[in-house]
Amino acid sequence: MLNSHTQPPIQKLSPELQLQLVLCLDVRDVIALVLTCKHFSDFILKNESVFGRLVERDYGVNYKRPDGEQTWQGFYKDQHTRKAPICCRHLSRVQDEPSETKRVIYRVASNSIIKCDFCHLEDAVYLSMNPFSESQACRSCVKVKTTEEPFPVQLEVATGSLWCMDESCSRKLGDENSNVNEQYKVKTVLNNLKEEKEGSLDRRRKAEHQLYVQELRREDMKLKHYLVEKAWGRTWMLFRTREGSSLPGKISNQKLARSNGSLDPSIRLPVDKYRPSPETHADIISEKLWLYLQKAYGVQGKPYSEDDLQYPEYARLRGYIDDFKTSILAYP
Ligand SMILES: [Zn+2]
Ligand SMILES: [Zn+2]
Repeated sequence: MLNSHTQPPIQKLSPELQLQLVLCLDVRDVIALVLTCKHFSDFILKNESVFGRLVERDYGVNYKRPDGEQTWQGFYKDQHTRKAPICCRHLSRVQDEPSETKRVIYRVASNSIIKCDFCHLEDAVYLSMNPFSESQACRSCVKVKTTEEPFPVQLEVATGSLWCMDESCSRKLGDENSNVNEQYKVKTVLNNLKEEKEGSLDRRRKAEHQLYVQELRREDMKLKHYLVEKAWGRTWMLFRTREGSSLPGKISNQKLARSNGSLDPSIRLPVDKYRPSPETHADIISEKLWLYLQKAYGVQGKPYSEDDLQYPEYARLRGYIDDFKTSILAYP
């Protein structure tokens, strides 16, 4: 046995640093390193995480069946030699357990027709599997690329199957001809998305509260904001914050309208994001939160956003919204 005095300096580095060194090498050089000595042979071959990291680095895949049938090393070899079908790397960005908000939107979408979030004209066909977005796209918009949307992995709601829209994949994921590891990942994600689960109302409560807080913290003045009728907003607040309170019904925005359906210009709105404002008729919320709420709960009456405040009679309301959006600046 070697003692620490006779160890070569490279072996005295911490395992994390040795791993970083290995990850700097081409896979051929990693194999060459395995052949140099018992230390590196054990470090690389007996420690599954090394090949796990190499698969992720070279093939962008971070998922694998948990059973012992295939090691990460075997997985690497299969991808390298193309002995097994190539896995979709984009699926690595999809959570095994989709958020409760995505589960809510999936349930709504599978029972009703919803318009595309991008063109607002065609019916939505796909639900984004982006962990940070519940957007829904039609067949044309799902192909249009922006910085983060549409996300490459999309759920076709009618069939309940996952597709990768990225040009390098452009296929249905997890079917019987695909890589077994991909099949396993797809099955896990879909089961977790669709299954009825115990405690899902409680998870919904927490997920919606988290979404509320996250959207409240946004300081981007360019984002469009919407109005939500106050009494409904209060019921939703109770649902979010008190265990045991029941789900609100449809958003009661009809209370904000005049008899002709347009927004009533005499309503009062909050002017400070960070203070409660009981004497008002509506809450001001971000577009992203509005999109979620209108799908999850449905709306009685119309949606009202800043776009509805163009006419001079709304100058006062526009002032409220501007103050509300810039209220962070009022604090030192
Ligand atoms: Zn893909
Ligand atoms: Zn569209």
